[in-house]
Amino acid sequence: MEIRKGQEFSLEIDDMGTDGEGIGHKEGYTLFVKDALVGDIVRVKVIKAKKKFGYGRLLEVMKPSPWRVEPACDCARQCGGCQIQHCSYEKQLAWKEKKVRDCLQRIGGFEEIPMEPIMGMDEPYHYRNKAQYPVGYDKEGNPVAGFYAGRTHSIIPNTDCAIQHPCNHMILETILAFMKQYDIPVYEEKKHTGLVRHILTRVGKYTGEVMVCLIINGNKLPHQDKLVEMLKKATDVETTYKIKSICLNINKDKTNRILGEKVVPIYGQTYIEDRIGNITYRISPLSFYQVNPEQTQKLYGTALEYADLKGNEVVWDLYCGIGTISLFLAQKAAKVCGVEIVPQAIEDARENASRNGFTNTEFFVGAAEDVVPEQYEQSGGSLRADVVTLDPPRKGCDEKLLRTVVRMEPKRIVYVSCDPATLARDLKYLCGEGYELKRVRACDMFGHSSHVETVCLLSRKAQ
Ligand code: SAH
Repeated sequence: MEIRKGQEFSLEIDDMGTDGEGIGHKEGYTLFVKDALVGDIVRVKVIKAKKKFGYGRLLEVMKPSPWRVEPACDCARQCGGCQIQHCSYEKQLAWKEKKVRDCLQRIGGFEEIPMEPIMGMDEPYHYRNKAQYPVGYDKEGNPVAGFYAGRTHSIIPNTDCAIQHPCNHMILETILAFMKQYDIPVYEEKKHTGLVRHILTRVGKYTGEVMVCLIINGNKLPHQDKLVEMLKKATDVETTYKIKSICLNINKDKTNRILGEKVVPIYGQTYIEDRIGNITYRISPLSFYQVNPEQTQKLYGTALEYADLKGNEVVWDLYCGIGTISLFLAQKAAKVCGVEIVPQAIEDARENASRNGFTNTEFFVGAAEDVVPEQYEQSGGSLRADVVTLDPPRKGCDEKLLRTVVRMEPKRIVYVSCDPATLARDLKYLCGEGYELKRVRACDMFGHSSHVETVCLLSRKAQ
């Protein structure tokens, strides 16, 4: 049967793709169907047809999958934030674990994979501590905030997202009311005019401290004192969280990048604090901080267990952010050196180390693939580490960095990854250079999305 654009037919969904989409087969032809779930029988319309595969739009679920559940958000299908809210949480976890295993087999070439059970969340809603809402206009010209529809820049208004902290609802409604009352213009991307681009919020789960940051296309926010007053009034009734920081982030560039470089406080400080275990961290708007504090504790706990520190080790923590893993490990190591590319994050890392009383840490600003080889060269090739931790962004590690890490001959490498495909590629490299994959454990940091975090232990084979 030839599949053409515009055709409609029923289809059994027999698999799930990398982004959580349903996959069905029609006489050898593969169709990817967003919002369809493995186990569903659906009616689809072909919206794009290539020779061997195509894309279908879900028209109707004729027979629901045993794993299909009612999504928590009404706008779940349109919203690009979550991809699999319609899938039971148990099945989400099983699928994520399989995704990691498949990548390690297919891309990494591993056969026997020492996988431990995925760490799921106890409560997979309202878990995020950071939100970035684009701001736009609705049809009536009122300011709205919400999320981008999948792969587009059209805004789905939603101030009550099921995975964000509940305080976001009140904060967003207050800011929108302020904008309406004082006629504050919304930034319009196409014309590069207007003022308010995004609203960023951060909440310290264990301290209750809240940061609100307006990203603006300008230097000043008119009537900013009124906004401060309105936000304080709206949050004064609350006892479980308190606004510690209201700031502006200046981004006048014609760019997709959300944040600019400059942060201007309009109330309180330019950071909030949160705790992981018994360490307090200072978090600035521009710094990376894990978005799911409860799972972070489990993830770092696993990283610490894998690092198996006895107290006399030198550890290099690469891609260290504000020093979260570094300080976690510094509790049990002789010395920890952290490397991170964002200068403000390193400032936070140093501050975090001194506030928590650590004297055995050192932080370097720069790309890990530059800093580590430079340090190695400067030492005349004598630089060594007992343990190296790697926690790169999605694109994984640069080979130049991995080559130097191997030369530093760490006994153990703990790799924390947010992308199983690049993880598998990097593990393959390291295992070709004298390391052995000992333990692998996935952790669900991003429930209802298609993302999965993984922590792995590699150990150096006896030479
Ligand atoms: N380990 C930290 C941060 C992990 S996220 C934590 O758990 O909180 C990845 C970090 O890598 C980010 O802070 C990002 O700014 C940083 N980064 C990105 N590219 C980098 C590079 N080439 N060299 C060093 N750090 C980099």
